[in-house]
Amino acid sequence: MTRNIVISGGGTGIGRAAARVFAADGDRVLLLGRRAEVLEKAGVPGALTCAADLTEPGDVRGVARFVAQELGTVDVLVHSAGGAGNLEPGPGSDDPLDRVAHDWTVNFRLNTLTAVLLTEALKDRLADPGGRVLFLSSIAAYRGSGSGAYAAAKAALHPYAHDLARQLGPRGVTVNVVAPGYVEDTEFFGDGMTEERRARLVGETVNGRAGTPGDVAATLHWLASPLAGHITSQVIQVNGGAERGH
Ligand code: NAD
Repeated sequence: MTRNIVISGGGTGIGRAAARVFAADGDRVLLLGRRAEVLEKAGVPGALTCAADLTEPGDVRGVARFVAQELGTVDVLVHSAGGAGNLEPGPGSDDPLDRVAHDWTVNFRLNTLTAVLLTEALKDRLADPGGRVLFLSSIAAYRGSGSGAYAAAKAALHPYAHDLARQLGPRGVTVNVVAPGYVEDTEFFGDGMTEERRARLVGETVNGRAGTPGDVAATLHWLASPLAGHITSQVIQVNGGAERGH
């Protein structure tokens, strides 16, 4: 059966890998992201695209209209849009408190608000029974992220997912969170990855390797399958054991 899959942040990294896995099943995939040209060049066979900044309610309303026209029902909603904020425009101020306010606001908007707005706009369109909502959190939600802002913005998705799972459970819709550790070959780190930092992150795993977008996509695909129908309101970590440590 062909399903309708909506993936935010679908033009790059984990979202794109997930899109390719669903497209390989013959599913109809809609890629959402801010950059139209990146979505169009993502190399996902047959994918529809819709450019939108998902921190903006007006843009999200536009996505909802597009989904109503082109898909009708959403079988799987994957929220991969996000980031640590360091690739966004800076605070425009050297004042320490302005910088803190900017860091926390940007991270909340990128990681929490994007996912919540899109969910609220599309939740009435989720297939019932059988619909799936999947959020991308992070190992940072368990361990911190330096300033705390990115980690907190990801951790905020956990209780939201639990409330949503309770709300949508009676409709036969599951809601889960996937929390990756270090995943390479994405745009997440920009040019901020060094050999030393990579070696440290890989060294935290118990299997001695970095995660790949395919590792995370496979977990999302499984959680979206009928086989995972009794799994809901869970946070699944994909990190080579890094969160437990040695
Ligand atoms: P990525 O930067 O390649 O993908 C994120 C995508 O989200 C980008 O295409 C970006 O343009 C898009 N996006 C950002 N803000 C948006 C907005 N306002 N509206 C629409 N689209 C927006 O990085 P990735 O590694 O594939 O990240 C996917 C998800 O996984 C993110 O939520 C990230 O926080 C999370 N994650 C990544 C890692 C990692 O090590 N790469 C680890 C843990 C969690």
